[in-house]
Amino acid sequence: MVDLVLEAPKKGKPPRHLLDLTRAERRDAVAELGMPAFRADQVSTHLLVHLQDDPDRWTDVSAADREKLTAVLPTLLEPVRTVDCDNGTTVKSLYRLHDGSLVESVLMRYTDRITMCISSQAGCGMNCPFCATGQAGLTRNLSTAEIVEQVLAGARALSAGEVPGGPGRISNIVFMGMGEPLANYSAVLGALHRFIDDPPEGLGMSARGITVSTVGLVPRIRQLAEEGLPVTLAVSLHAPDDHLRDSVVPINNRWKVSEVLDAAWFYAEQTRRRISIEYALIKDINDQRWRAELLGEMLAGHLVHVNLIPLNPTPGSKWTASTPQAGAEFVAALREAGVAVTVRDTRGREIEGACGQLAALES
Ligand code: SAH
Repeated sequence: MVDLVLEAPKKGKPPRHLLDLTRAERRDAVAELGMPAFRADQVSTHLLVHLQDDPDRWTDVSAADREKLTAVLPTLLEPVRTVDCDNGTTVKSLYRLHDGSLVESVLMRYTDRITMCISSQAGCGMNCPFCATGQAGLTRNLSTAEIVEQVLAGARALSAGEVPGGPGRISNIVFMGMGEPLANYSAVLGALHRFIDDPPEGLGMSARGITVSTVGLVPRIRQLAEEGLPVTLAVSLHAPDDHLRDSVVPINNRWKVSEVLDAAWFYAEQTRRRISIEYALIKDINDQRWRAELLGEMLAGHLVHVNLIPLNPTPGSKWTASTPQAGAEFVAALREAGVAVTVRDTRGREIEGACGQLAALES
């Protein structure tokens, strides 16, 4: 049996931050520090609506209270460096956390949307052999506020006009950075609430613009389906047959393809959201025509869309991306089966900002 880590080590837990909390809890926390509860709403408005994180600019909060508030507003992400490409419209940020762990996020500005790809764990315990993060293992879960801060840092840079294209707002968030989001369920759920809930409780983003990507933790998929948060679910399938998936996505040894897909269809039924199936095309491993046909058969008739990703080979990997011709044939077979399919863009590859590469070069 492969080495999978579902329970994160408890060490390195970050200090509590107001953004870990719901609006009601923030009011309580502020009251406990001897301030009127409405201070919590003022701070939430500064952080989430005005995107202003410098307490010196909060002129409606007294200097004495700003001082007291530092107890619940620790600095969680220390920027180490940013790297950009695509004329500055793809920006990767590397952060050091309070315990020295490193995490990354990537901001991608397109003509019609701005997407942030964020991390939910430092490292990952899912051990997928083609993914650089999987090779490094799991350091720890991120807290809700550590997840939310990645988005706020991007939102502040955008609103300040630091990203070419003029001031802008984040429209999409994808949990496709480091980590398995559903293995850090409660912190990720908290972050989803901070993104979706109306201001000043949260950022007031649309749930449909947010994607949670998972290797297929079946009970957690079912649990998320019942939260009443219609975010998009992406399932990293990568193989339609258990024989291959057992080695490419090792969690398959616990939950089989049919169980993962059943949970996905339950998710689609509960949320009315189309499921995204992620499939990295790996040359001569999972890109055969018969696998495309089998995948098409399994998906046809469901509320689903396939996202093919040319493999981004990790350093030292024996695997490479499929040829464009194999990719085109795979697309054709899925279309023949009546399944919607797109080939994902590979933004950020030249800055190690693409899938599975985040922070791997730093360790
Ligand atoms: N743990 C989650 C989310 C993080 S990875 C998950 O597995 O879904 C986000 C996506 O990038 C997943 O579909 C993952 O399988 C894919 N990925 C990881 N490494 C990759 C690589 N080297 N090339 C192409 N896709 C990769």
